Amino acid sequence: MKLRVSKKLRGLVAVGAVAACAVLAVPNAQGAPTVAAAPTGALPPVPVQGQDGKVYDSGRDAWSSASAWNAVAKNRIYNTYAIPASKCKRPNVALNTEYRVRYFEQELVRCMSTVWKTNLWRSGAAKWNVTPALVVHGYNTVKSACGSVTGWISFYCSAGNGTIYIPWRQIVTYYADNPTYAVAYATNTIAHEYGHHVQHMAGILTASHWRQDHMSYEAGLQESRRRELQASCFGSAYIGSNKAYYPMTGGLKDMWDYVVSHSGDRPGYPRDHGSWTSHNFWSQAGFKGNGTYSHPGSCQTWSVPATKVA
Ligand SMILES: [Zn+2]
Repeated sequence: MKLRVSKKLRGLVAVGAVAACAVLAVPNAQGAPTVAAAPTGALPPVPVQGQDGKVYDSGRDAWSSASAWNAVAKNRIYNTYAIPASKCKRPNVALNTEYRVRYFEQELVRCMSTVWKTNLWRSGAAKWNVTPALVVHGYNTVKSACGSVTGWISFYCSAGNGTIYIPWRQIVTYYADNPTYAVAYATNTIAHEYGHHVQHMAGILTASHWRQDHMSYEAGLQESRRRELQASCFGSAYIGSNKAYYPMTGGLKDMWDYVVSHSGDRPGYPRDHGSWTSHNFWSQAGFKGNGTYSHPGSCQTWSVPATKVA
């Protein structure tokens, strides 16, 4: 396998590190939340959503423009119907230690794996039964096959069977400030990163990176937004499929609504994840599904005009 470190990831790492500083330096920079369950204190700005790194497999990822387009726009994952309810409850731990954050996120990975493999199998994906590894990292620089990262960065690296990286200290810090916000954020972040894993297993992730590498910078940013907004939509589709059991209702749902409507690109940073409006649109689309069930078909971000992925 030919490993290739993502230039994009390296670029975004610097962005993420700056954004993490901004979280500390400018509390409530995004303004007061408008949701009913909003706490009286300031919420931290929702940080840039997790990045994803790419690793090419020289055999499988020998894309052409036609095959890459088919992989992203006409993928069989879109026709796999309902994501089953995992029936997993929210892990009942306070998110106040590294150990507990790891437990919480590992449980969610396990729950997501049990149901996503159903849809991946239905799609005909060869690697439908693969659960990604989870790395919960703290202060130190973490080395991945997709590059090194430092700080409050969540990301997915597609090397091997895939690995999700989650910064526990960020979640512990949020928990001390607002536990409901921290739970909503921790839930949404791991769901988004698992969304990248689903993209990887379905052949979407590397096809999209291949496409981006064959585009102008600006067109490539739009490609990145389609990929990231889909990852959030897939993640939200999982959350929606299990909303009755988690449960994602009441104050936690209000806070999740806040998180997804305050996530995305910020002024001064690359337009690679989508605006808050776009992020909210695709997150809610995934969560609501077709009104009867949540399914990957709600997340066809390559089949819409550019205005929907602004
Ligand atoms: Zn992402």
